[in-house]
Amino acid sequence: MKIDYLIVGQGLAGSLIAWQLLERGKRILVVDRDEEVTSSKVAAGLVTPLTGLRPGITPAFEERLLTAKKFYWDAEETTGARFFYHLPIAKLFRDETEAEAWLSSDTSEGKPLHPYLAPLGLTPGLLHSEHGGLKMNGGGWLNVPVFLEATRQHLLERAAYAIGRVNADEVTTSQTSAHWRNIEASKIIFAEGWRSRSNRFFDWIKMHSALGDILEVRIPALTGLSEIVNRGAWLLPLGGDRFKTGSNYRHNVTSTIPDETGRTGISGKLKTVTPLPFEIIGHQCAVRPIIRRSQIFCGIHPAYPTIAYFNGLGSKGVVNGPWHAARLAAHLIDSEPLPQEADIRGNLI
Ligand SMILES: Cc1cc2nc3c(=O)[nH]c(=O)nc-3n(C[C@H](O)[C@H](O)[C@H](O)COP(=O)(O)OP(=O)(O)OC[C@H]3O[C@@H](n4cnc5c(N)ncnc54)[C@H](O)[C@@H]3O)c2cc1C
Repeated sequence: MKIDYLIVGQGLAGSLIAWQLLERGKRILVVDRDEEVTSSKVAAGLVTPLTGLRPGITPAFEERLLTAKKFYWDAEETTGARFFYHLPIAKLFRDETEAEAWLSSDTSEGKPLHPYLAPLGLTPGLLHSEHGGLKMNGGGWLNVPVFLEATRQHLLERAAYAIGRVNADEVTTSQTSAHWRNIEASKIIFAEGWRSRSNRFFDWIKMHSALGDILEVRIPALTGLSEIVNRGAWLLPLGGDRFKTGSNYRHNVTSTIPDETGRTGISGKLKTVTPLPFEIIGHQCAVRPIIRRSQIFCGIHPAYPTIAYFNGLGSKGVVNGPWHAARLAAHLIDSEPLPQEADIRGNLI
């Protein structure tokens, strides 16, 4: 079978590049291991415009945010599925220092509010809001598992999806094509998440594993809450009295069997967000693929012109991924340069 691109992995990365290449009329096949637990299947999927100690947004990040929202809305329209939710975020300050940094930089002395920020109305007693907070607009939530399933259906309808494991050791290459089993592709794009650590083509890229835990909880007294809450830890409303909450970074832990350490850690964090009683009804954890500080790396292998890479989506993959996938597609098809910091050829690490 002769195709343009074989994409290895249908997590967020593989899905995003698949959409771009299909849109450009390319013949693709996506092969995925169909694992029950992956970073994309567990991810919270939060889209947070402003993070850090002071509110601020760079023009580059804003462009990525707008690209991401447009991409997900377009994909919803194409597939008829619903996975992107435009939700406000209640940003609660953890202490006076944080409150001062956020308020003085934007809302004090009668200055206009940052376009992403607005006053926050709070019902006393429901959340730990003793230091105040702000309402952050422009963000939301990607229900990543629903997006992945809608993408899988979209690919299946085009005979462009298969379950399987592509072992890099079985891949052979020439100057013009790469082969895996009976497939001949102009390029093979590896989008394997953290598993690429053992891929012979890319084991030189320093991938950090950072396990993250997420709990699903019931909080009856917060029934009907319509905002994501962020107070270091976050609380995501799923409807009724159900919420997701997390997360943490457990470096060098790669077992995805939920354990007491993760459960206790996230429960403790949730107690800093709300004083209300909660019941834990679910616990999942997965390994994030992190390169440097969540820097996306992509492009064509420096020694194998028919082998490519898309990885390192990290903790902001939902926002940064669509913009980088579009850049990677333009690079592969039209030889457009990649952003220097993302190009694996310019970053031999
Ligand atoms: C607890 C947690 C919370 C998170 N929260 C957020 C968040 O709020 N916002 C955000 O933007 N990001 C978040 N993330 C990060 C997000 O999950 C990642 O950025 C993104 O999902 C990574 O996608 P990926 O496709 O690179 O990797 P993966 O999701 O790991 O996908 C790789 C896919 O490739 C398959 N695969 C691997 N090797 C092979 C092979 N050889 N052959 C065939 N298939 C293969 C795997 O089975 C998998 O399906 C979170 C992650 C975790 C763990």
